[in-house]
Amino acid sequence: MSIPQEPSFRKSVDLMFNRAVALMDLSPGLEEKIRVCNSTYTVRFGVRLRGKIETFVGYRSVHSEHMEPVKGGIRYATSVTQDEVEALAALMTYKCALVETPFGGSKGGLCIDPLQWSEHELEQITRRFAYELIKRDLINPAQNVPAPDMGTSEREMAWIADQYARMNTTDINARACVTGKPTQAGGIQGRVEATGRGVQYALREFFRHPEDRAMAGLSGTLAGKRVVVQGLGNVGYHAAKFLVGEDRAIVTAIIERDGALVRDEGLDVEAVKLWMNRHQTIRGYPDAALIEDGSSILEKDCDILIPAAHEGVIHLGNAERIRAPLIIEAANGPITFGADEVLRDKGTVIIPDMYANAGGVTVSYFEWVKNLSHIRFGRMQRRAEEARSRLIVEELERLSADRGLGWELAPDFKERFLRGSDELELVRSGLDDTMRAAYQAMREIWHARPDVHDLRVAAYIVAISRVAATYRSKGL
Ligand code: GLU
Repeated sequence: MSIPQEPSFRKSVDLMFNRAVALMDLSPGLEEKIRVCNSTYTVRFGVRLRGKIETFVGYRSVHSEHMEPVKGGIRYATSVTQDEVEALAALMTYKCALVETPFGGSKGGLCIDPLQWSEHELEQITRRFAYELIKRDLINPAQNVPAPDMGTSEREMAWIADQYARMNTTDINARACVTGKPTQAGGIQGRVEATGRGVQYALREFFRHPEDRAMAGLSGTLAGKRVVVQGLGNVGYHAAKFLVGEDRAIVTAIIERDGALVRDEGLDVEAVKLWMNRHQTIRGYPDAALIEDGSSILEKDCDILIPAAHEGVIHLGNAERIRAPLIIEAANGPITFGADEVLRDKGTVIIPDMYANAGGVTVSYFEWVKNLSHIRFGRMQRRAEEARSRLIVEELERLSADRGLGWELAPDFKERFLRGSDELELVRSGLDDTMRAAYQAMREIWHARPDVHDLRVAAYIVAISRVAATYRSKGL
């Protein structure tokens, strides 16, 4: 099947940006200033591996420095290009503005297949890449703070943090040079699950509004909704796991690079993930049908489609056939500009990437703040919270005894109520609050303005207005 020619990812993001600014009142100069990518650094470096020198190509792109540090992940994939990194950096600018994390947008990438190298080799490569970026302040707690992305995880972040600390021995804030670190290396609880958790909170918030659900022809709650997930990496796995385990949704299909697993009564997400970890493939998984042409399953009848892997998977070649009435973009840029138009015309509701996958950077912000404040979340207030709860419980019990009411708190409720919040609870509540507030901001514009027909344009308008306001206040 031939796929019609479409603009590059970078152009696709620009076209989406243009669609929003056409409805805004920005001066052309400011509009251009916000749209363009400020700079992209390309580095080619050699590492001696297996007896010879291997050359790698990496990028760190800074889209907007209206706020510093700039923020965004580092991706390891063979598909990494300058165009892709710049598109992703632009999306970071808008994402950070939308969820009010005080950062500009950046993104990095290394053109590599991580599966080809051993852990020790990857450490050498990562440290060398980090060295190149640190030297140019492209990793720095005050200027540029990377995080995990596709193909990278806590492990790479720990190496980067250590490399920075070695090169900056007197920087007391060294740990804040990167987020998404393991907890024992200055990370924060709940960061690994954060993007998937954010997808869950975004869907919960969407389903809280009957008019919004109705736009997608959906009613009720997430319970029983049929979900198709594309990509069972960190984001897709956590989103699917929480939606099934906590909201009683049903995952009817999981699409991976080597096919799709389908089971209409619902897949056991945990079991599939375990199988994948053990065999590096979904093939052979016993409790589901395997469909060889995985991408055809994007077109399967379902209530919610969650593309959680790569950009551009929904394009002009398949958009018309997508049947899901609601798509939540857990990945960055999974729907091309052209496909977005086709889907909108069909009435598909799209919860856009810059909102849907902002859970990661939100919790990264908490981690960065934690690193700069040098204190674990909850450490100062936990006992005070407990003391206050105890006062309430004692007062209730006294009232009940005085008046002979015979009230008694259920022991497990009492236990939970008396316990102060720990770091994980605080992180989750901060993320939930962020996702709700950002949705409200988009929704207000979506419903109030007759010229705004979809959540993506609404999201861009909120984000661009905030970036513009920062530039204006700086006197630009
Ligand atoms: N890579 C993630 C994203 O695309 C997280 C970025 C961050 O935490 O800085 O949003």
